[in-house]
Amino acid sequence: MSNALDLVDVVKTFNPGRPNEVQVLEGVNLSLAAGEVVALVAPSGAGKSTLLHVAGLLDTADSGEVRINGENLAGKPDRVRTGLRRNNVGFVYQFHHLLPEFTALENVVLPQLAAGVGKGAARERAGMLLEKVGLAGRVTHKPTELSGGEQQRVAFCRALANEPRVLLADEPTGNLDPDTSDVVFDVLLELVRDTGMSALIATHNHALAERMDRVLRMDHGKVG
Ligand code: ADP
Repeated sequence: MSNALDLVDVVKTFNPGRPNEVQVLEGVNLSLAAGEVVALVAPSGAGKSTLLHVAGLLDTADSGEVRINGENLAGKPDRVRTGLRRNNVGFVYQFHHLLPEFTALENVVLPQLAAGVGKGAARERAGMLLEKVGLAGRVTHKPTELSGGEQQRVAFCRALANEPRVLLADEPTGNLDPDTSDVVFDVLLELVRDTGMSALIATHNHALAERMDRVLRMDHGKVG
C-alpha cells in the first residue's frame, strides 16, 4: 500500500529576494505510513504550521513533492487539490474554529454535506463520532455552551467526519489547561487509532509526543 503522506525535498520561502525573506522549509523529507501516528516537535517559529499547511494542500511549496496516497499534487490545478484535500485530509488547529451559530452535531454534519453525503447518513456518523468522544449528551449544544475541552473534541469529530486518510493537527491541545489537555489528547489518539488513519501531530509537549509511534524533530528548516 502507498504511504498516506510523503513530502520530498519540500522547499518554502516567504518573501523571496526581499529584505524580509524567511526560508522556512529547506528541503523537508518525511513519510507517514498507513495507520502511523507521528509527532512533530519543534520550537515556536520553526515552521510547523507552514509544513502542515503545505502537507495539507492549504499552501503550495516552492519546489519538491507532496504526495497523498502516493499521488503527487505539486503543480496540480486548485480544483484537483481542493477535491483531494476534502476527501483525504482532516485538520485540527489549536483553536477549534467551530461555527458558533451551529450545534455540535451540525458542526460535524456540515463538512459531510459539502462532500456529498446524504443528510441522514451524515447525522448518524456525526452522532456516532460525538458519542465516541464522550459528548452524546452535548449534541444540541452550541460552541459557547461547551467547555474548551469539549469544543476541541467536537473539532476532532469534524476533522474525521469525512474519514480522511491523513489527520494533520497543529498543537491540538495547546489551548487547554494541562489536565484537560491530557484527557483530550487521549481521546484524539483513541479516535485516530480506531479509524486506522495516519496522523501528523505538532506539539510542544514532549510527554505527549512520546506516546506516538515516532517523533520527528524540526530544526533549521529540516525534519529529522
Ligand atoms: P511555527 O508553526 O513552528 O510556530 P510557522 O510555520 O508559523 O512556525 O512560521 C515559521 C516562520 O515563517 C516564522 O518565522 C514566521 O514569522 C514566518 N512566516 C510564517 N508565515 C509567514 C508569511 N505568510 N509571510 C512571511 N513570513 C511568514
